[in-house]
Amino acid sequence: MSYRRSLFVLMLMLAVLFAACASAAGGDLPAQMREIETTTAETTTETTTEETTTEKLLTPVDVNVMMIGDMLLHTNVQKSGIMSDGSYNYDHLFEHIQEEIEWADLAVVNQEVIIGGKAIGIKSYPCFNCVEEVGDAIVKAGFNVVLHATNHTWDMGEKGLTNCLNYWKENHPEEIVLGVHATQEDADKITVWEKDGFKIAMLNYTYGLNGFKVTQGKEYLVDLLDKDKVTDDIRRAKEQADFVIVFPHWGTEYTFKADEMQTEWAQLFAAEGVDLVIGAHPHVVEPVEWVESSQGNRTLVYYSLGNYVSAQDKAYTMLGGMAKVTIHRDEHGEVSISSYDAVPLVTHRGDGSAKSFGTYILTEYPESKAKKNKVIAKDSRFSIEYVTNLWNKTMGEEFAIQTDGE
Ligand SMILES: [Zn+2]
Repeated sequence: MSYRRSLFVLMLMLAVLFAACASAAGGDLPAQMREIETTTAETTTETTTEETTTEKLLTPVDVNVMMIGDMLLHTNVQKSGIMSDGSYNYDHLFEHIQEEIEWADLAVVNQEVIIGGKAIGIKSYPCFNCVEEVGDAIVKAGFNVVLHATNHTWDMGEKGLTNCLNYWKENHPEEIVLGVHATQEDADKITVWEKDGFKIAMLNYTYGLNGFKVTQGKEYLVDLLDKDKVTDDIRRAKEQADFVIVFPHWGTEYTFKADEMQTEWAQLFAAEGVDLVIGAHPHVVEPVEWVESSQGNRTLVYYSLGNYVSAQDKAYTMLGGMAKVTIHRDEHGEVSISSYDAVPLVTHRGDGSAKSFGTYILTEYPESKAKKNKVIAKDSRFSIEYVTNLWNKTMGEEFAIQTDGE
């Protein structure tokens, strides 16, 4: 600390010196004094050029964020991970999006179902539980951020959640697990991820727990969308990081646009200066838009990515989305979203036999597979054309899938 401080003092002295030189030479004074804090090397280089400046240049950084929607593990999805020798393996659920995961610095999955493990066993709707190997597959696929604040977090009560927290801590301590906490101390901490000194804070909340309430006195276990708490968290996140992402579990199921609750929360997020919001829960895709606060803050909001995988019965629940966002910090410390996209996904619903489920990028989903999607027996509307049209209608021109116009 004292070393850093004395370094800082040295920098300041250098800065003052350079500023004086700049003044004498009729050059511009530094615009942002706070950026003088590091690297003398670049500053020195600067002084050797004609245009004298004390601004230290940062290394430009790009951070790629990708996220998929709900891992809604109905019985047959879970059974698709039981191999012929009786062991569990869920790698097949992610094999068709491997490239997209590798692209990301932050690969985020909405783990709708608690990982209470084999001690509880496979449980499906309305109260879900899954085995540890689901988490193993998530990590192996390359996801480094897992969202656990969902309306199903309390499906197996405190026991399920405790098992889940222990599973992550003991098996994958490096994994960033959001929305659930083993202690108050952990709940009070803002999760900040860093790349080349560029800091990104991440927050995850759910609107509720399907009528359940967490154990009294242990409210820290799950992060709920509580206005006071969320506002306080965001303010602290903004103090600690350069960019803030909120992952809310919100909205109305099976509606293809944001509801009142979502638009109100999106306004709050924008007003508080949140940079990016990626939502989940409605089981269908919802639009992406920039939300502007009255003070002029702009927040990019993905309202819902729909299901990543499920065995739901409606054709429209087989369509999901993948968020892909690139965040850029330039050499002056300016941070912006430099590109963003929404990629259509489709769940191939199988019969529950080993590896029978899978999720594809819609434009890569083979027609031969689509014809065998088990959802057809429940909803005959399902086809590649049906989900393509639904995607284009919901997401609008900006993200439309170009069809050949046959
Ligand atoms: Zn949900």
